[in-house]
Amino acid sequence: MASTVTRRDLPHDDQYIGYGLNESGELVHVDCVPRGKACGCCCVSCAEPLIAKQGEIRVHHFAHAQQNQCTGALETLLHRLAKEILSAASVFILPDYTWRGERALRDQLVKLEKTIVSGGRARLSQVLIEPRVFEEVVPDVVLTTQARDGSARTILLEIAVHHSVDAEKQNRLRELNLPALELTLMPEHARLSRSALAARILNNTAGKCWLFHPRELECERRLEELYRQELERQRREQAVRAKANEGRAEPIRQAVKSMPKSDVENPMAEFFAHHGRYPTVLETADVFREAIAKRKSK
Ligand SMILES: [Zn+2]
Repeated sequence: MASTVTRRDLPHDDQYIGYGLNESGELVHVDCVPRGKACGCCCVSCAEPLIAKQGEIRVHHFAHAQQNQCTGALETLLHRLAKEILSAASVFILPDYTWRGERALRDQLVKLEKTIVSGGRARLSQVLIEPRVFEEVVPDVVLTTQARDGSARTILLEIAVHHSVDAEKQNRLRELNLPALELTLMPEHARLSRSALAARILNNTAGKCWLFHPRELECERRLEELYRQELERQRREQAVRAKANEGRAEPIRQAVKSMPKSDVENPMAEFFAHHGRYPTVLETADVFREAIAKRKSK
């Protein structure tokens, strides 16, 4: 029986792109253009001519007409597609944000976990693409969401394809003290139809992760407060313990002082003979307590 090879059986080539730029400069999906060189499209990254591959076996995609070293097509394409989709969007699903922090205190951890954003459907009143409104940093997208009570909120959105936002940009975003979200897109998203990609970006929490939220600062302060409270509690407890130990140790110390030297050395030697080691600090108190009791009973 002849087996049928389907598209699903073949490994995906991660560099396959599903969109090219047509003569009008618009991104068009490979299924919406004539086959082969007749597609009339070029690469969004290097501007070289593309060929529309619409075969039966491999997933439909665009290939560069000439073998070249174009490596940025996938990332450039996904950034541009995502920005186009967001520009036209009126709703956007936000993910929850549960802040988790901990601080080590001796052998324990002081922890705090708090949900600072309850995600869900947000209505967009404005979407700005790479706006130059901040001095230090240009966010990929700035979303303005409109709450039911009419209040507006600004959210910075970073689009990540191969790598997440680097630490330097993350710090700059943080300095703006505005909520910042990262949207991660995968290479296979570069072949989705526009509507499927829009559903992935707008109606989904997958691939969305908060980079920063101003409410984190309140959590950090609260964690610091909990840490200090716990430190204070441990200090008080330690002081009480030390005082109690002092009370217990003093009579023994006094009794040991008044004992003949041999009575002090012998219990230690006896302990060594029995255990093959000298007593620990805690055991020493017991050793002498016994020695004193023995001496009294003589
Ligand atoms: Zn290219």
